[in-house]
Amino acid sequence: MVAAKENVASVRTIGTMGEQFLGNPLGIGNDGGLDRVLNGPTTAVWIEPWMRRIRELGAEFALGTEVRGLEVRDRRIVAARVIDETGAQRTIEADYFVVALPAERARTLWSPQVLAVQPELAGMDNLVTDWMNGIQFYLRRSADISRGHTAYIDAPWSLTSISQNQLWRRKLTEFGDGAVRDCLSVDISDWNTPGILFGKPAKECTHEEIAREAWAQIRAHLDDRGEVLGDADLHSWFLDPGITWQEGQRRNANADPLLINTAGSWEYRPQAHGAVENLFLAGDYVRTNVDLATMEGANESARAAVNALLDVAGSNAERCRTYTLFRAPELEPLRRIDADRYAAGQPNLFDMPV
Ligand SMILES: Cc1cc2nc3c(=O)[nH]c(=O)nc-3n(C[C@H](O)[C@H](O)[C@H](O)COP(=O)(O)OP(=O)(O)OC[C@H]3O[C@@H](n4cnc5c(N)ncnc54)[C@H](O)[C@@H]3O)c2cc1C
Repeated sequence: MVAAKENVASVRTIGTMGEQFLGNPLGIGNDGGLDRVLNGPTTAVWIEPWMRRIRELGAEFALGTEVRGLEVRDRRIVAARVIDETGAQRTIEADYFVVALPAERARTLWSPQVLAVQPELAGMDNLVTDWMNGIQFYLRRSADISRGHTAYIDAPWSLTSISQNQLWRRKLTEFGDGAVRDCLSVDISDWNTPGILFGKPAKECTHEEIAREAWAQIRAHLDDRGEVLGDADLHSWFLDPGITWQEGQRRNANADPLLINTAGSWEYRPQAHGAVENLFLAGDYVRTNVDLATMEGANESARAAVNALLDVAGSNAERCRTYTLFRAPELEPLRRIDADRYAAGQPNLFDMPV
């Protein structure tokens, strides 16, 4: 259902994640609730408190400032070239550089000078991104569809949703004029398959058409339970602003594509730290145990980057805690057989024609 498309996805990634997903409800290797989500709007309950904390620690945010390049001297990064929202350019010198940009942006920084020191970063050109973006439907009444995530398995646009009000501490009626009672937050994971209302893929739909089409697919799915959602319930909607309509091309552009863990991509994913001694990478594309483009993967890579930085700096500060995924010992014989078959050039045991 998610952007991990079955025809291109890495079996390594999906297999490892499948093991976690299956073990989770059984309480195997599980450290808490099954389906854990935020208890309020992301900005309010996560980003703002986190920014406050980082500022307290002495950091400064240069919001609206874009990194355009890195300057290399003596196999080290000496400065980052940035441009601010007024278009003013400057360079920032520092001792250490942590690049925490998405893969498709980070790789634009790998100049011939950077690649001369750390050539494996060129492999990042083989990493693939696809579209997975959200739309929020604001509702005049509660949409208690399920207490967790809902997968619309028959929806051509691979929709998933969550009804947020039931899970938030501060209720939606406390926001705005109080008319909105729930927010159905929807992920659209397939932007290439034609929809049921306009017969077009999401990439070719205007924002209004995307909203109407996604709403129609959700309603079509829920219909078998009577009218769960009616048109009169819809107050308004909000599409990810990263999606912008290009009138000339009659299609959308996407500023925030998602990394897809495609078959063979592991080889092209860099470690958090390599030969450029003062350059550290954090992001969901960095090699991690989690091995899936997620916040958990990005988080793990950031911990690895920080620990590597502390090592390089010779710091005696406490290191970030790191974790490995639970691997069920019962599956070890199967993993062994698979590794042996792979080494012998044979397909996976379960890879059979149907
Ligand atoms: C619709 C959707 C649903 C998802 N759902 C889940 C989920 O339920 N659970 C989960 O774990 N993961 C989920 N993910 C995946 C998760 O959001 C990402 O894997 C994660 O945010 C990646 O973190 P990151 O730090 O690598 O990159 P990002 O979060 O993308 O952060 C990179 C930052 O760099 C900034 N930036 C980009 N270019 C520049 C530049 N040149 N200069 C300066 N700054 C720049 C960007 O603005 C951005 O703020 C979802 C993703 C999507 C799109």
